[in-house]
Amino acid sequence: MGASLDSRTFPVNDKETIKELWANAVTESRYEDGTYYSGVVGMLGNKIDWRDIKLADESAARSYIEEHSDKWSGAMAVSFIARKPPTAADKITADSCRQLATKAELERQKLVLEAIKGIKVNDFVTCKGEGACKSRIATKFIHSTLCPFCRASFIGFRLQSKLTKLNEEIIRLNKKAQELSEGAETLGGWVVGGICPS
Ligand SMILES: [Zn+2]
Repeated sequence: MGASLDSRTFPVNDKETIKELWANAVTESRYEDGTYYSGVVGMLGNKIDWRDIKLADESAARSYIEEHSDKWSGAMAVSFIARKPPTAADKITADSCRQLATKAELERQKLVLEAIKGIKVNDFVTCKGEGACKSRIATKFIHSTLCPFCRASFIGFRLQSKLTKLNEEIIRLNKKAQELSEGAETLGGWVVGGICPS
């Protein structure tokens, strides 16, 4: 006796509609293929184990069901998403987000390089401040704004928070550009199925 995955895909997001479509598919399969080890959806019955996990596409949803079902575990429903292609306006907005991110990155780099240059004005620097290691370090060994020993920052709080803000802005802009380029997410639908004994 074998078993194989059989499923139906419903491009809707209404459980009541899916329940009805599924029940009909099961009934239809029982008429056509019988109820005895048919290897198709008629073996699964009407009860559905719902998993609203919004996988990347229909085939990922099918694979999930295949991996998480047992021979007699009945029907499982797994949601998947779909994407609307980006509009021309989305692409233009994405481009300007990337340009702004690049501008912010240049500003961040400039501030960091200036700060390092400022530290290297003297031959030695002492690592100080709260929790700092208090080492006296030759500045030729310093290549960032952080102490090479304890990672305490050599720069002031105001500049640190400015750099943090710039970093957050860069991440936010790049993320927005990425999302716009991918297109808007829509609920693609549900795959219902399971392992059907044959
Ligand atoms: Zn230190």
